[in-house]
Amino acid sequence: MLQNIRVVLVNTSHPGNIGGAARAMKNMGLSRLVLVQPQEFPAADASARASGADDVLSGALVVDSLEEALVGCSLAIGTSARDRSLPWPMLDPRECGAKSVERATMGDEIALVFGREHAGLTNDELQRCHFHVHIPSNPDFSSLNLAAAVQVLGYEVRMAWLAAQGEPSINDKADAVELATLDEMERFYDHLEKTLVDIAFLDPDKPKHLMARLRRLYGRSSVERTEMSILRGILTETQKVARGESHKRKD
Ligand code: SAH
Repeated sequence: MLQNIRVVLVNTSHPGNIGGAARAMKNMGLSRLVLVQPQEFPAADASARASGADDVLSGALVVDSLEEALVGCSLAIGTSARDRSLPWPMLDPRECGAKSVERATMGDEIALVFGREHAGLTNDELQRCHFHVHIPSNPDFSSLNLAAAVQVLGYEVRMAWLAAQGEPSINDKADAVELATLDEMERFYDHLEKTLVDIAFLDPDKPKHLMARLRRLYGRSSVERTEMSILRGILTETQKVARGESHKRKD
């Protein structure tokens, strides 16, 4: 079940931190590491800091974009060391552990997304996540070392996992709904944006926060696969009407 939870490190500069994160993960029983454009990897410093978690490092998937790192996931939780401009659904680390384990038990793929040492995650990257998690640190000195942040959230995942051991697991796949994955959601947002431009609801020169707000809205709706097909169908028909191509209405 813990293998459904992946740790995503975005654009890490120090390979030592990648090794430290791998060690923290293995200590907590996590094994799936995804690196988005690491500045230096593989690297001797990474192996040195991993001290024994080389299997996590050698199994790490290196990708070019956050979008690729999130393929197949239906829940992404982004970490943030500080407040951001657009308020987003927040979890504390304990809730992050509980939610990750609950959803992983249901067979969903989960991503915990960590940012750059110097600049964290961009707003655009954070807006790809359903929830944000902040480790309640000293407000005057709030940034943890990257590997330390992985350790804290990994520990909370482990505690939630241990607590769930005695409980009956949700095995009834018949009742389980299949949620749209993040890559499917990305294609939907792309389609939605184009449609909103087509019907002149969105001005590409003055987009304001419209797409971010819509991401936040759909992100908290747990959109199911079948619902996603309906939404995509509505967009396709809307675009046809906007182009004057719709033949569906005869009246
Ligand atoms: N200067 C950056 C801090 C980056 S710290 C900023 O202001 O955003 C590097 C990474 O460690 C962060 O992107 C995040 O993934 C994690 N991290 C550090 N401190 C954290 C905290 N208090 N809560 C959650 N994540 C934290």
